[in-house]
Amino acid sequence: MERSNNLPEGGFPHLFHHGAVRGVTGSAHEWVASPGSSVLIDCGLFQGGDVGPAGASADDLAIDFDISRIQAVVLTHVHIDHVGRLPWLLGAGYVGPIYCSGPSAKLLPIVLEDAFRLGVSRKPADVERFMARLEAALVPVPFGYWHALEMADGTVAEIRLGRAGHILGSAHVSCRLAGEHITVFSGDLGAADAPILPEPEPPPAANVLVIESTYGDRLHEGRETRQQRLEDALVRALRDKGTLLIPAFSIGRTQELLYELEAIIHRQRGAAMHSFLDWDELPIILDSPLASRFTQVYRELEPYWDEEARERLRADRRPLAFEQLLTVDSHEAHMK
Ligand SMILES: [Zn+2]
Repeated sequence: MERSNNLPEGGFPHLFHHGAVRGVTGSAHEWVASPGSSVLIDCGLFQGGDVGPAGASADDLAIDFDISRIQAVVLTHVHIDHVGRLPWLLGAGYVGPIYCSGPSAKLLPIVLEDAFRLGVSRKPADVERFMARLEAALVPVPFGYWHALEMADGTVAEIRLGRAGHILGSAHVSCRLAGEHITVFSGDLGAADAPILPEPEPPPAANVLVIESTYGDRLHEGRETRQQRLEDALVRALRDKGTLLIPAFSIGRTQELLYELEAIIHRQRGAAMHSFLDWDELPIILDSPLASRFTQVYRELEPYWDEEARERLRADRRPLAFEQLLTVDSHEAHMK
């Protein structure tokens, strides 16, 4: 695998992997279209002990690769291991566009404001300046269409997003050079039966495929098995007059859990749980301000939900905002 910034003698496109090489985080793949132009697919944070090929890590987020060729950034989805180094990329002087899907463009500012405060600066003026630069750079593009990029040296390059079924707005990205050579970047891929999300779509036929392998060595249980296990745990905890704590705050996972909980409560409504509490009174507390904000945006993005989720809305159910859901939005409320 090519590890340096030195371009080969041979033809284009060429690939540099600036992250997610030896570990699964820090995704940043540079698709080099010509000696003077390239596109960066994702710019993620390293997590755990993962390090980049040139030494970047969770402790040293300085951009460790040459950004002078990069004409555009394209994001597969807004998880931090795919977008978390963007503040440092802008800090290093990147001034081009950042392409992503419509839902990602709504979710990204929430993710990056938090990342900026934690990693760069909490000064309101700095945060404001960064957010303004980010908003100006963001270009939402629809799924399923080829979008021409403006490359400084006139190279003809296009990108296309396809649904990846991983979190709302997630996409696989295809890059096409000179109208013919296609490289597909899978991003993170979801299962066909994931809650809320439409099924992943097949990408176009490709000459080169760059694919994630995070769970490549594991078999996932089916959705029905997961639903049943969640329901069993819930019933057991409540029969014991207990509390169920689910340590989940990640984007996507949290909303899937809320969605499945609503389904359990809907199904069990009227059934006796124990003598003094019925299902409609079961309090569900979402104790994470960030998760609350994501959930709010997930609700607003209802046109991007799958048919099953929208069917529930039509039946007057509120899959992500049912009555007994309490969200904790402040430290004071959390302490209480
Ligand atoms: Zn992800």
